[in-house]
Amino acid sequence: MIIACNWKMNMTTETALDLVADMATQVAVTGVQRIIFPPFPLLAAIHMRVAGTDILMGGQDCHTEQKGAFTGDVSASMLSDVGCKWVIIGHSERRQLHHETNDLIAAKVAAAQSAGLSVMLCVGETEQDRRAGASDAVVLDMLASSLPADIDPTRLAIAYEPVWAIGTGQNASEAEISAMHNRIGGFLAASNMKHVPVLYGGSVKPDNAAAIMAMASVDGVLVGGASLDAHSIKAITDQSAPN
Ligand code: PEP
Repeated sequence: MIIACNWKMNMTTETALDLVADMATQVAVTGVQRIIFPPFPLLAAIHMRVAGTDILMGGQDCHTEQKGAFTGDVSASMLSDVGCKWVIIGHSERRQLHHETNDLIAAKVAAAQSAGLSVMLCVGETEQDRRAGASDAVVLDMLASSLPADIDPTRLAIAYEPVWAIGTGQNASEAEISAMHNRIGGFLAASNMKHVPVLYGGSVKPDNAAAIMAMASVDGVLVGGASLDAHSIKAITDQSAPN
């Protein structure tokens, strides 16, 4: 069971250090892995605080190259250098706002793994896809096209995040989550990747986390808004149990 916290473009050094200090006082259930994804400028300071705890840290994106003339970008090896073990790749906000394609995402996944990072690959359909009955096709195409041929499945997790559920307060129903996770599980099994964890993300909150995490097909949650609040993330973590 993974509890992943995507802070997006939020927090200051002070508020972030307060939050991780708070999280570090909570003993997570054995078999539950907490991972935080702070914005780039906070990574080094937070690494100092979480080193020696059970909390792992990751970046929210990385470039396809490890270094070079790419103003404003951050490489996977830089993330590794400041203590990251993970990186989120293909979040819908990157796909939509930065026009990231599956090909670009596959190149980023390869770069991240070659720098020694584990990858949390996000996939999910839009409301429009869903209304058109295209959710399965879109998600399966994202999976097939965003994973490089030489993927290391031991350093991979998939986050199913329906775009219409992100930041809206409207989480997918258990039936919707289960149906899509089973399809993703089928894809992974057919690709010799059946042990890859599949997380759900999209408006996970203290009042729906227990039911979502109790589902057999759910290996964790990717939490955005609720992960910024110490009480909420504590309440979500308290309700977790290894799957
Ligand atoms: C996310 O952006 O990954 C996310 C799941 O956000 P929220 O929990 O706020 O819907």
